[in-house]
Amino acid sequence: MSGSGIRPDGAAGAKPPATVIAIRDLNLTYATADGPVFALSNVNLDIATGEFVSLIGPSGCGKTTLMRAIADLEQPTSGSLLVDGLSPEEARLGRHYGYVFQAPALYPWRTIERNVMLPLEIMGMKGDERRARARRQLELVNLKGFERKFPWQLSGGMQQRASIARALSFEPKLLLMDEPFGALDEIVRDHLNEELLKLWRATDKTVVFVTHSIQEAVFLSTKIVVMSPRPGRIIDVIDCDFPRDRDLSIRETPEFMAVAHRVREGLRAGHAYVD
Ligand code: ADP
Ligand code: MG
Repeated sequence: MSGSGIRPDGAAGAKPPATVIAIRDLNLTYATADGPVFALSNVNLDIATGEFVSLIGPSGCGKTTLMRAIADLEQPTSGSLLVDGLSPEEARLGRHYGYVFQAPALYPWRTIERNVMLPLEIMGMKGDERRARARRQLELVNLKGFERKFPWQLSGGMQQRASIARALSFEPKLLLMDEPFGALDEIVRDHLNEELLKLWRATDKTVVFVTHSIQEAVFLSTKIVVMSPRPGRIIDVIDCDFPRDRDLSIRETPEFMAVAHRVREGLRAGHAYVD
């Protein structure tokens, strides 16, 4: 099962989707005062253009480590990792992706619009262009009309939408999202899940999304990567082929429940819950 996520590069057939992320035999060990922490072990994964891939697993199984390795924020101990055919460092310098953290991390003294504009400001983009871009991204996440508000005037869900707009400011094709809705209540999360799905459909981005919610993973994804802890390994890769324009009601269908069941079984088989 664990190999089912591997797609041979340049597979036969008409125009195979390009591989955005290619991970081979990746290992990452943190050196600590108490000895090595084996965070990732022998991870192999391919992510194609336009996919929505969720990484699911319990706390401490290496989801953030894997995202950070993709984003060049951690260095693998061994193995290879390519983003758009480039090293993570080259992809980072070329601004190939946007990164959304679990906490919105907006600057409280800047308006929402000026938070979204910040990466563009650092990049040296001209004022008019950067404002136009920020407006476009804020519209995409349904925050039109909130440009001049400050973060603390917005709800948690709206703040997280603003941070998604900020990650989109470079207009990257790849979006890395590490538990972006983990701190929100279920009703807000449901709503943002639907909005994220709309955004994904409208923009044709490739998304890598970390969650520990089975429902969220099954609802959003074209592919679910189930991980197990100590050391973090991929124990199952599940393809989901629900229609792209699905809504929350699919969660009641037997097909949805069957996929959710397989995810749950995978987590169990990986002894994900040790307590
Ligand atoms: P997850 O995001 O799935 O909760 P993480 O990737 O954050 O997991 O962590 C995986 C493992 O690596 C955990 O055991 C964690 O304690 C450890 N870890 C994470 N970052 C570091 C670090 N900088 N130094 C040492 N150990 C770390
Ligand atoms: Mg994490």
